[in-house]
Amino acid sequence: MSWKSFPKVELHLHLEGAADPAFIRELAVEKSVDTRKIFDKSGAYKYDSFNEFLAVYEAATLALKSPEDFKRLTQSVLENLAEHNVVYAETFVSPDFCGGRDVGAWREYLEAMQEAHVEGVTLKGIVTCIRHFGPDKARETARCAVETAGDWIVGFGMGGAEDVGAAGDFSRAFDMAREAGLRLTSHAGEWGGAQSIWDTLEDLKVERIGHGVQAIDDSKLVDYLAETGIVLEVNPGSNIALGVYANLAQHPIVKLRDAGVKVTVSTDDPPFFHTTMTKEFERLEQVFGWGVDDFKLLNETALEAAFCDAGTKDLIAKRLEIV
Ligand SMILES: [Zn+2]
Repeated sequence: MSWKSFPKVELHLHLEGAADPAFIRELAVEKSVDTRKIFDKSGAYKYDSFNEFLAVYEAATLALKSPEDFKRLTQSVLENLAEHNVVYAETFVSPDFCGGRDVGAWREYLEAMQEAHVEGVTLKGIVTCIRHFGPDKARETARCAVETAGDWIVGFGMGGAEDVGAAGDFSRAFDMAREAGLRLTSHAGEWGGAQSIWDTLEDLKVERIGHGVQAIDDSKLVDYLAETGIVLEVNPGSNIALGVYANLAQHPIVKLRDAGVKVTVSTDDPPFFHTTMTKEFERLEQVFGWGVDDFKLLNETALEAAFCDAGTKDLIAKRLEIV
């Protein structure tokens, strides 16, 4: 069946990474940004490895130069979410790409993002530092998060190259965010193995892990995740597009879930990985035979793990009931 109209919750979505190539191309042309390194001949994002993906991602953000651009981007992302009946999403937003971590500029970008609106879709933001930009910039990013924590900015996280530095290098940034009442997540265990997840849990004290799939190689960690209820933001299509796993049949999402780990499903950077939430659901049905009960469980887990306030959760729960 088509899962397009089935209501969905998505917790792991990078705002710039959700930009349609056509949207970025149009902006790039307007601003005379060179796009030859960004797109292949077919107009899709061009990369062959994770590091190339990160470089193309950062190059694409050069087309996004003003708060108005981010308003247009957010509007376009909301429209894509609505098309796949994603009724609630949390998106990673980076002050690095919005005014170079200056708090005043960041506020302007943030206000512009919140002007975007599509009926029936609720979007919240998670301020995200970029690991390969280093701990100093991460603290500046945390400062932006602290100053704008509230109804829309509900969390703090970290993405980027997992093999750069140690999780502990970023403790101060995460402490600042925690003290400001922000909820915490970090990418780990996508490339860095189970130890990277242990380090992230110990040093950054996060309650969700972005990816976390390599926990499967450490049975003690799987047990720990199940016991503590740490939630994994799993992105199967992303893992396969980037070669973390060869195909969905080899992906550990089912093993993790069956071991009692709380798993959710998201798209990460959908046009980069040629995916949508509908496609993720369809592949899970095709390969693992998942059906309505499995997808309802995904929604429940995701809503429970969402960083928004209780009132918003009640509203989303009502939207999810209408299946
Ligand atoms: Zn990610």
